[in-house]
Amino acid sequence: MLRRLLFLLLPAWFLVSLQACNQPQPLPADLEPSPTLPPMVLVESQAAQTEEALETDQPPVNNSAPLRFTFPTPIPPPKSLWRPALYEVPWALGPFDHFYFSRPIAANEVNWPVADYRYGGIFFSSDIVHTGVDIPVPRNTPVLAAASGRVVWAGYGLYYGNNDPKDPYGLAVTIRHDFGFHGQRLYTVYAHLERILVVTGQIVQSGEQIGLVGTTGLTTGPHLHFEVRTDRNSYFTTLNPELWLAPPVGWGVLVGQLRNTNGSFLTEQDVGVRNRQTNQKWTVRSYGKTAVNSDPYFRENLVLSDLPAGDYQITLQYLEDEFTLDCQIRPGAITYFTFRGKHGFTLGMPSPPPVDNLLRPFNP
Ligand SMILES: [Zn+2]
Repeated sequence: MLRRLLFLLLPAWFLVSLQACNQPQPLPADLEPSPTLPPMVLVESQAAQTEEALETDQPPVNNSAPLRFTFPTPIPPPKSLWRPALYEVPWALGPFDHFYFSRPIAANEVNWPVADYRYGGIFFSSDIVHTGVDIPVPRNTPVLAAASGRVVWAGYGLYYGNNDPKDPYGLAVTIRHDFGFHGQRLYTVYAHLERILVVTGQIVQSGEQIGLVGTTGLTTGPHLHFEVRTDRNSYFTTLNPELWLAPPVGWGVLVGQLRNTNGSFLTEQDVGVRNRQTNQKWTVRSYGKTAVNSDPYFRENLVLSDLPAGDYQITLQYLEDEFTLDCQIRPGAITYFTFRGKHGFTLGMPSPPPVDNLLRPFNP
């Protein structure tokens, strides 16, 4: 019954996914783009003078400023569109970190995941939550394998099966990676492709082009829907990609576990995040109720990646009170906090799990 309900609701989920993708490129509230570097400028009168000189084969009359190119004073690129290179994968500063994947869109592209429709995101009051991240980029942008492995799905029907062209994922690729986590297989999914450039069974290397961004499936705008799956290639076995994609050099990741006073997970809870040095602000929402999974160590229900290292303040409105937490985001590292209703915030990593093999490579 639940499965049937999901089948009915999934198209609605994809539809709202699109609305998210059609929204303007998410920008940090305080960082509107500033003008980009202007092109090299040749002053008009000087240009005319140059042409004349070429026609007559005579040097230009030296009655004005000498011909010169105007080099504008370099200005830094707008911060909202700028990102440093990524750490090389696999990246793991902590014993339970697992930034195993590189970005499925080249890092020199502006490819932030859609900020208000992250993993676990919900629109309206639907029980269907987002099982991946959406990266809005132009149609035909190359889609790259996030790591090496074997293509185990290439075509229509990833959700419905049977090559159904009405499949909400559209043209999709799944790669089963040649490494695992916690003794389990790892998969990545790339959906809504315009074209697929690999075939089932093919071995691909990290960074290899596997397709082109498109609008197949239930979309109204070009974007890449990217998922990380564990154990099996299923809609129900996803994990948050923001915990698996290597962060930019010098930037870190905020991970939180939000519960109410009684210990139940706080779902769809807005959390404010502010960089105290730059005053850059983010709003991130905790996961919805169903279909998403937490990391076996962090047991999180909130992740915000791509945060420049620095001092931060986290704020959360719970019932009638506002709670705040001061913390630091460190380069390439995870900062972890918990929230427990009226008991407020706690900073610090979770206790190690009873098993010590969370990072044991998977042997297929
Ligand atoms: Zn999506």
